Amino acid sequence: MIGDYDVAIVGGGLLGSAIAWGLGRLGQSVAVLDEGDIAKRASRANFALVWVQSKGLGMPAYTGWTVRASKAWPTLNAELKEQTGLDVALQQNGGFHLTLGEVEYAQRTELVARMHNQVGAADYRMEMLTAAEVKKMLPLIGPEVSGGSFCPFDGHVNSLRTFRAFHTAMKQLGVDYFPEQPVSSIAREGGEFRLATARGEIRAAKVVLAAGNANQTLAPMVGLSAPMGPTRGQIVVTERTMPFLPHPLTTIRQTDEGTVMIGDSKEDELDDRVLNQPINAVMADRALRMFPHLARLNVVRSWSGIRVMPRDGFPVYDQSETHPGAFVACCHSGVTLASNHAFDIAGMIARGALESELVGAFSARRFDGDATPNGSGYY
Ligand SMILES: Cc1cc2nc3c(=O)[nH]c(=O)nc-3n(C[C@H](O)[C@H](O)[C@H](O)COP(=O)(O)OP(=O)(O)OC[C@H]3O[C@@H](n4cnc5c(N)ncnc54)[C@H](O)[C@@H]3O)c2cc1C
Repeated sequence: MIGDYDVAIVGGGLLGSAIAWGLGRLGQSVAVLDEGDIAKRASRANFALVWVQSKGLGMPAYTGWTVRASKAWPTLNAELKEQTGLDVALQQNGGFHLTLGEVEYAQRTELVARMHNQVGAADYRMEMLTAAEVKKMLPLIGPEVSGGSFCPFDGHVNSLRTFRAFHTAMKQLGVDYFPEQPVSSIAREGGEFRLATARGEIRAAKVVLAAGNANQTLAPMVGLSAPMGPTRGQIVVTERTMPFLPHPLTTIRQTDEGTVMIGDSKEDELDDRVLNQPINAVMADRALRMFPHLARLNVVRSWSGIRVMPRDGFPVYDQSETHPGAFVACCHSGVTLASNHAFDIAGMIARGALESELVGAFSARRFDGDATPNGSGYY
């Protein structure tokens, strides 16, 4: 046996490490079991937006949950910085979704109206701006930009540094991290959970499944379900350039280091070792039409990553009725929601139960008897 803990977390990505840090802050003894360094991890492949606009169409509770996360990010940022000295470069002065041409502008206007008309959604002040209004805030846009939507809650961070900050901070709080120890089975015996790994067994009073898309396989071991519908996304990165983009876009952002990231493709293909170059060409072309001066820059790298995606696009947070003390957490937007995971979800797990409002909205029971196809609840 490797050890006995209050909580064992399966998965050391952004979700697992945020929850582990949150539990460590509350004085819980925590073990995080993870795969090896080259495992598929959305947490190393993402676009790093802390993003609110257009989240929650079809599930108003998700809008509120996202607004809450955005508002809690400054506290998370401050706490991580104070504890680790790492600056995760949080910028939250609002973000854009730009449109090219009148058809896209009309489609976006309709989406904004549908979001506003949802009963029970939080007011997150997403509004349409004309091209002239956008130009006042983003002076370098090209002539094809027809306008766009703006949301003052939107922002971005340095996502890899955030990931590092969580791992640094959780270890400082005494959380034990076990890489190269994938969990093969979980059983509940004698009032505790036993998690089997190739190097031995971990025992814990509670278990949190934060293994990304692998939650689909692990959840039934503890009487839960997590129907997933992962997608692949590609990102293109340019060389560094002078600051030109004071607000992030859904598809373009300038990092704190000066590079320009271009992204947001979506494919059903799930091999992250290959790149679909025609998709990169379309993304780059759209970026050039939005900011023509980007044509001067060289692309320095590009990658594809597999999104952790519950089947309808909305988060799954659940607790087991048959295995009390077992929880599952998975979502797209693990950067955006990191503050909620670190503070709210960790607090609920420490207290032993998810709040009924959260379970009511995000339980995987919503999929029972439902063949909902892969959705697009994330944007
Ligand atoms: C291209 C792309 C762009 C994105 N852009 C954004 C964005 O702009 N904003 C945003 O908020 N989000 C974005 N995301 C989503 C975000 O990255 C994810 O929501 C987040 O990283 C999910 O974290 P996770 O910990 O659930 O999953 P992962 O990072 O995949 O981690 C899961 C972990 O579980 C481990 N694991 C799996 N099976 C086992 C097992 N049996 N035992 C032990 N460990 C196991 C894996 O090794 C892995 O370390 C993007 C994702 C992609 C791919």
